[in-house]
Amino acid sequence: MNVTRELFSEVMVPNYNPAAMVPVRGEGSKVWDQDGNEYIDFAGGIAVNGLGHCHPELVSVLKDQGEKLWHLSNVFTNEPSLRLAKKLVDATFADKVYFANSGAEANEAALKLARRYALDHFGENKDQIISFKQGFHGRTFFTVTVGGQAAYSDGFGPKPGAVDHAVYNDLDSLKAIMSDKTCAVMMEPLQGEGGIISPTPEFVEGVRALCDQHNALLIFDEVQAGVGRTGELYAYMGLGVTPDILTTAKALGGGFPIGAMLTTDAIAASLKPGTHGSTYGGNPLACAVAEKVIDIINDRKLLDDVLRKEQLFRDGVNKINEKYHVFSEVRGKGLLLGCALNEDYKGRARDFLVASTEQKLMCLVAGANVVRFAPSLIIPDEDIAEGLRRFELAVAKVAGA
Ligand SMILES: *Cc1c(COP(=O)(O)O)cnc(C)c1O
Repeated sequence: MNVTRELFSEVMVPNYNPAAMVPVRGEGSKVWDQDGNEYIDFAGGIAVNGLGHCHPELVSVLKDQGEKLWHLSNVFTNEPSLRLAKKLVDATFADKVYFANSGAEANEAALKLARRYALDHFGENKDQIISFKQGFHGRTFFTVTVGGQAAYSDGFGPKPGAVDHAVYNDLDSLKAIMSDKTCAVMMEPLQGEGGIISPTPEFVEGVRALCDQHNALLIFDEVQAGVGRTGELYAYMGLGVTPDILTTAKALGGGFPIGAMLTTDAIAASLKPGTHGSTYGGNPLACAVAEKVIDIINDRKLLDDVLRKEQLFRDGVNKINEKYHVFSEVRGKGLLLGCALNEDYKGRARDFLVASTEQKLMCLVAGANVVRFAPSLIIPDEDIAEGLRRFELAVAKVAGA
């Protein structure tokens, strides 16, 4: 069969618009397409391939588990899921874990749990969920409604109710809509899709205090920011604020689909037998791989190196910017970085992405005004240097230099 990009348009639902080249192989931070062209990968499968492509230890554990046991359903438990849960509990604030298959599903579980916990402890009137504009929490109907972008949630009929949005980094806007009716506040501890926005310390601390004041649960969506990306195993650890529920996915499986919701004993108790579930959740293949991912990434040396590599990216982009004057700032933390376009290039992030692909560099955008990098956490320094060299050619092209 002749597999081409044209075949995509022929047989796939048109909700995506992938690049013209078709990748066929990856190793570390390099990817090769059907014609043998080599790309440097600064996209990391959208912050998923935290250990790059085909990390030998992940390949090995996947092969081993693949010859033992693939799937059981939750009618039975299994060793990989219990080992992974134990390691997540030992490494975080949490006492209990629920496994899902994606970020949206982990968030769906978190939101349902928050509603049920409020019902159990405070009665029917405490059902308001507050999240933030420009936030992103997934594409199921509940999570997309909680997400703060109407473009993603409108046009699908009536939405789940009692969901309100405040302005990120604006505590007063939260205060204005929060009350004892609020059952949960959901936020990203570093907004990803919304443009790589870090919270100010006063903001996260203030959100935590308001949640405590109103008996509302604080849910951190660490689907993008978690698993080492910010130089901490989870971003909350670098903020000094502990959530009540944390969701994690993307890099947790290093490319194998898995999501998880972490919480405390007291809150977890509200998901009694039968209240929620998933056929694949806790699948042995996914959990075996994720266990190895956590083993490798939950290591102070690796996490410190993420911050060292962040500096290589920042220095490189700043140097490019001194020549071409296209960015207003480089923001984000660790290896989740956004190059924000200045007024002259407003709305043109996609042009930089297309020009980068032409230079054999894979990168991302975060909205129309930010070029985003979310590479492997162990990307070799040489690949950072080579990728930045290609990025400079792309910037030069867009800048018309
Ligand atoms: C990607 C993302 C999600 C959704 O994850 P899926 O695996 O695509 O369902 C949710 N929240 C955040 C912060 C994300 O970046």
